[in-house]
Formats: sequence, C-alpha cells, structure tokens
Amino acid sequence: MKSVQHPKPVLAILGRRNLELGPFVIDEAPQEQGPYAHWRVRADEDGTVWLLFDKKDSSANTLSEEVLSELNAILEQLEQNPPRGVVIRSAKPGGFIAGADIAQFRGVADVAQIEAQLARGHAVLDRLDRLRAVTVAVIHGYCLGGGLEVALACDYRIAIDDASFGFPEVLLGLHPGLGGTVRLPRLIKPTQAMAMMLTGHSERARRARALGLVDAVTEERHVRAAVRAAVRGELKKAKRGVAGALLNSAPARRFLASRMTSEAAKRAPRAHYPAPYALIDLWVENGGDADAMQKAEIASFAKLLVGDTAQNLVRVFFLRENLKKLADSQWDGRRVHVIGAGTMGGDIAAWCAWHGFVVTLGDTSQKAIGGAIKRAAELYGKIGRHDHRRVRDALDRLIPDLKGNGVASADLIIEAVPENLDLKRRIFAGIEPKMKPGAILASNTSSIPLEQLRENLPRPERLVGVHFFNPVSRMQLVEIVSHDQAAPEVLAEARAFLGRVDRLPAPVKSAPGFLVNRALTPYLLEALVMLDAGMKKETIDKAAVDFGMPMGPIELADEVGLDICLHVAEMLRGSLDRAMPEAPQWLKDKVAKGELGKKTGKGLYDWKDGHAVKSREETAPPPDAIDRLILPLLDACMTCLREGIVADEQVLDGAMIFATGFAPFRGGPMHYARTRGFADVRDTLKRFAEQYGPRFQPDPGWDAPQ
Ligand code: NAD
Repeated sequence: MKSVQHPKPVLAILGRRNLELGPFVIDEAPQEQGPYAHWRVRADEDGTVWLLFDKKDSSANTLSEEVLSELNAILEQLEQNPPRGVVIRSAKPGGFIAGADIAQFRGVADVAQIEAQLARGHAVLDRLDRLRAVTVAVIHGYCLGGGLEVALACDYRIAIDDASFGFPEVLLGLHPGLGGTVRLPRLIKPTQAMAMMLTGHSERARRARALGLVDAVTEERHVRAAVRAAVRGELKKAKRGVAGALLNSAPARRFLASRMTSEAAKRAPRAHYPAPYALIDLWVENGGDADAMQKAEIASFAKLLVGDTAQNLVRVFFLRENLKKLADSQWDGRRVHVIGAGTMGGDIAAWCAWHGFVVTLGDTSQKAIGGAIKRAAELYGKIGRHDHRRVRDALDRLIPDLKGNGVASADLIIEAVPENLDLKRRIFAGIEPKMKPGAILASNTSSIPLEQLRENLPRPERLVGVHFFNPVSRMQLVEIVSHDQAAPEVLAEARAFLGRVDRLPAPVKSAPGFLVNRALTPYLLEALVMLDAGMKKETIDKAAVDFGMPMGPIELADEVGLDICLHVAEMLRGSLDRAMPEAPQWLKDKVAKGELGKKTGKGLYDWKDGHAVKSREETAPPPDAIDRLILPLLDACMTCLREGIVADEQVLDGAMIFATGFAPFRGGPMHYARTRGFADVRDTLKRFAEQYGPRFQPDPGWDAPQ
C-alpha cells in the first residue's frame, strides 16, 4: 500500500507506555509532545493515520467541546491531503469513549446556546463522516453515548472482544444528541436501534456484531490485520438488510411507535420522563429524512436538557459520584469473615466473594450456611452468566466456616445475626480477643445504637456499623454508621471496603433508625393509617407510584417484611421524642401468624411468583394522599439534617435515592422540598397536624431560610 504524506503538525512523537494499540505502544509520554492536548496522531507503516484519543488529566475519555474542536482541527488537516485510511482509537486502557462530559450539562438553561454547541459537535462528526478516507473506529472496553456517535460516523467499527456499546442518555432524561438518532436506525434495524436508545442497555461485542453495529470482532493481536483489511476494502461490512429499510418506512414507523409508546408508558409517564416519548416522536416524524432528523434531534435534545427531569437526573449522577468519592480512601484488606448466614449475612458474604474477597461464613446452623451458598450460586449464575471462570473463582472464595476459624485471619468481620443486643454483645465478646490487630469489626444492625453495642469492647474504636439493605445485590447504598468513639481511619477503611464491593457508602451517625429507616418509617406508618381508615391498598400504592416511587408503601412493607417494619417502627416509637402512630393491632396479629409479606407468600398483599397480587380495579387517590405519605418522609429527612445524623443534603438525597429509589427525576427528597419551597412543606404539614394529628407537626428546620 502506498504511503501517504501527512501535514506535519498533525504528526507527533510516539511515546513508551506498555499499552499496545494496534501498531503502537503508547507510553506515559508528556502530553505537550504533540500539538493537541487530547489527541495523538500517528501514521503506521501502511500510511494509515491513527488518531489516538487520550483525554488530558482524565482516567476515562469523555467528549467535551475542546476535544471535539481538536478533532475538527485534525480532520481539517487530513482533508487537505487525505490518507487512504484513518483510525480512531482510545489510548485509555479502560475503554473507547465513555460519552459526553456530563459536567457540561449541569445547570444549563439557555436552549439557543445548547443548540449552537450541539450544531458545532454535529459539524465535526459530519466532517468525519464525509472524510475522503476509509475511517475505522477500533473499540475496546466501553463505547457509550457520544463515544458510540463518534464510532457511528466512521465507515467501519472493529470491536475488541471486551467492547460494549450503548446509548445510556435515557438514564439522564435525554436521548442521543450527536447524530445517534440519525445514524443508528440507518445502520441496524430501526426497531433494535430504538430499543437500544429507549432502554439505555449496552450490547456486548458479539451481540453488536449480530445486530450489524460492528463489522468485525477481533482480539487485540489481530487489530492491525483487521484495520488493514478494512482500509483495503476487504472487510465485509455489516448490513441491516431490506427488512431494516422497510421498518423505517413512514407507515411502519407509525405502527411501531404506538407500540413503543405504550411500552414506555408502562415504565414511566411522559410528565415524569419525557425523553423516551421525545425520541419516539423524533423517529416517527423525521425517520425518513436524515437532515430533518438531525435538526430535530438538536432541538429536542436541547429542550430535554434544560427540563427539570434531565437536570435532576444529572444531579443524581453527581450525587452518585459524591458518594463514590467517599469510598476513595485506602484499605488493603483481603479477607472477610461474616457471622450469621441468614438473609443479610449470606448475601453480604456472597457479594464480597464475588468482588474478590476471600470470605469465611459462620453460623450456628449448618443448614443456614448451606442455604447461603446455594443462594450465592444462584446469584452468580445470574450476574456472571457470561463469565464462568469468575463464577467458579467466587464460589471457591466463599468458604463455609461453622467453627469460626476465619475470625483470626479476617481483615473485616461483619456481624449479621438476629437483631438482639445481648446476642450481638455475646458474639463480640467471643471474637474480639481472636481478631487481628487492625481488623475492623462491623455490625449490620438496622436499629441498635452503636453506643450500646460498643459497651464492654476493649477496642471500641474499631467498631463501625455497615448497614446493608435487602437485597444486597440490588441495593447500591450502605449506611456507614459512626459513633462517638469510632476511629476516623476505621470509618474511612469501611467506606473504602464498600468501594471495593461496588456499593455506595453513606456516612451517618448512630441514631434511632439511622437515616434511611428513620425517613422511611413515617411514610410506611402513614400508609398503614390510611389503610386502617379504609383506603384501598392499591389506591395508596398508586398515589406513591404516581409521584414517582418505584413501588407503593404497602407493597414495600411486604417486600421488606412486616416483621422487620414492625420492629423498626416500634423501636422508633420508643426512642424518638415525637408523635408517631402506633402500628395497628391487626398488623401485629398478622406478624404473629407468620404472614410477613413477600418472603412468606402472604402479607398485606398475597404474593404469587414474586409479585403482589393486586386488584385491577383502579381508584384515583384523594388529592392529599401523596402529601400525607411524602411530607412525613421529608420531615424526617429535615430532622436528620438538623440533628447532624447526616452531613449534608447531597449525601442525604443520594442515600434516599440509592437506598429507597426515591423518585430520581425529582432529584432527592431535600431537592424536592427546595423546589417546592420549605414554607409550603412546613405549612402543609401544619395543616395536616390540625386535620390528622400531631404526628405531622413540622420540624423546626423548615423555618430556616432556604
Ligand atoms: P436472619 O434471621 O435471616 O439471619 C440470622 C442468622 O444468624 C441465622 O442464619 C442464624 O442461624 C444466625 N445466628 C443466630 N445466632 C447465631 C450465633 N450465635 N452465631 C452465628 N450465627 C447465628 O436475620 P437477617 O434478616 O439476616 O438480619 C441480620 C441482621 O441484619 C440484623 O441485625 C438485622 O437487623 C439486619 N438487617 C436486616 C435486614 C433485612 O431486611 N432482613 C436489612 C438490613 C439489616
């Protein structure tokens, strides 16, 4: 193949890091060595130009205005003397491009400005699309959002085995905004393109190949050959076929769109999550005309981005980042010992082993340990179905330990025996002398004050609450409960442990119910009061779901377990200095009869195949129903803030969203209260206090200036 002359400033000097990228080995070469901050431009021996994306000062590649403007400058130069082939590749080991830099979405409000910025981005990708060279995206790791849009603007996409592709914008209340809605439905079947954009699901390399999204899947060592074949026109291009074109016709679009709309409506209403509906409208109206679609995509994206839903979901993204950062400290522990192989302990042990810890699991009951290991195997079968080696290794690391031999070598011990102070203290007294110096002692207690647990401990400073929620594998949040004698380094290590098991730590102070249960209990109790007064359970649940909660409080109480709800409610009633409704007698009777909710198949609902059996007859909830449920929750949040149980509104909102699913598009309970206005929250609570009783008396924190 003939070699091509390249404009000089585009070429820079090759560095020396051991990351092999096709023909190149990239070093930690100082970024100043090239003319660009984020891109390195190299020619291989065939004259193919490789654009290596290495975003400055960032562990992942994300697209920003500056990154795109540099790409534009590079393309402009290449246009003057186009080589035969141009490859775009990431120089980051983690992946291709993770998407747009979300920080630039924060707080934006000027539609015209966003449209202008998007138009500039589109112009760059259009330029790439039009370049008179064979363009190839070589993709390893993640290729998401704007990253996928860059790849779609290339002629070929070559995926390395580990690559995954997706448009997660919908999770931020958006849809693709850099031409994805135009290019994807033209490349693959539009139904599959729409499914990817509507759900935000990622596709792995081989499935992406089957969809026609990538042209080849290969191993790193064959990348050069694959690129050479693509540039020579010898690589067979994936095609979407005739069916794909037919599905994009106007009548087909109209027909399919009505089905997509009813599917979207099952997940969330337009008023709460407008993005899926906007995307469907875009496609129906403009799917046949790429230019019109491009213009409409820009306008629709800008409109969504300034809306409350997207702004609140962007906020939630940063709430998660904020919690993740709390796990940023150092902890080198490798071995975990869990005491109690029941619902929580068994699942915590399984989760830790999955994430690489050697875990010994103790219990007084051999049967409980056996049951926990069986559950672990089932869980791994689901989450690890693509990775049999990881499943095998995780099961190897999960070790039954009836005698508790693992205590002596554990770096972290997690106690998860039944909620009984004496029992927990007895266990602590037994294991404390055997623990390694420096090991952390953690309790999963959901209600016992740490001050009571730490009594009699010779080294109380290493006790910490690590309060997981049920089910452990699905609930991302874990409360890290401190007490006045806990060592700061132990708390930091406990947070770091959570980072290593992919959970989000929320630091809270030891106080009745900590944060999450304290806030959730008044909400659940009010639902019971409403039920007791004759409101239908389906109606109560509907009020909460209409507000945006993932499920209603009655269903939630059954999910959590009525025994656990009752226990927490009674503990809070006994320990808090405020009016709280007593749980109705019939609830206590139900618990006594063993009707505990989902886990026993019968609770407030009957349960079948893991679902609550609900009457189909719908009754609209009374207008004040949702405020009666949500305002007591907000009020408890305010109390937790005022009493310093949780440090700030960011941690609080993040904790409530990631532990309870509090309507994410509202940005968290405190953000919702701020949007609504503290005075309105307080005045409504006062009105309810007069109407329904003193349990609604507002916290004094609402009087503080907003
Ligand atoms: P569980 O009853 O399901 O399991 C407790 C396990 O501890 C049982 O297997 C039991 O055999 C074992 N056990 C009892 N005495 C023991 C001893 N002396 N030594 C070793 N093992 C012993 O209880 P759970 O629901 O898993 O709750 C455990 C802890 O987690 C409690 O503190 C609870 O408050 C807390 N918690 C529970 C939930 C939940 O939803 N279940 C949620 C968060 C926190």
